[in-house]
Amino acid sequence: MVLHLMQRENGLVRHQGGCHCGAVRFEVLAPSVLTVIDCNCSICVKKQNKHFLVPLNHFKLVSGHDALQTYTFNTHSAKHNFCSSCGVQPFFIPRSSPTSYGIAPHCLDGSTVKKINFEKVNGKNRDRTKQR
Ligand SMILES: [Zn+2]
Repeated sequence: MVLHLMQRENGLVRHQGGCHCGAVRFEVLAPSVLTVIDCNCSICVKKQNKHFLVPLNHFKLVSGHDALQTYTFNTHSAKHNFCSSCGVQPFFIPRSSPTSYGIAPHCLDGSTVKKINFEKVNGKNRDRTKQR
């Protein structure tokens, strides 16, 4: 209900998505034209972790709370959530932006996305200066 109200106010689209096995389902409010971050830090490269950012309150976990596992490393500020059954990471909380969820555009159901613009982010050099 809250999501529905914000959707009307901001002209955002309610995207739905989930993991591969279907245990984890979520809804997120975001534009229909997405700006997706293509980061070159250690974990984003390994996971090909393309994502777009939304404020925490624009995200709603619909199902799968018990199926989620969280991987953290180094400062443990990033929370890499993944489904314990199929291993897919539909969303996570980035270290660079702990007040946002990073959402995997490839985990959205699809029909609500009009276009994706990719933005390269140099997370690798940020990592180097902080010794990680
Ligand atoms: Zn799953």
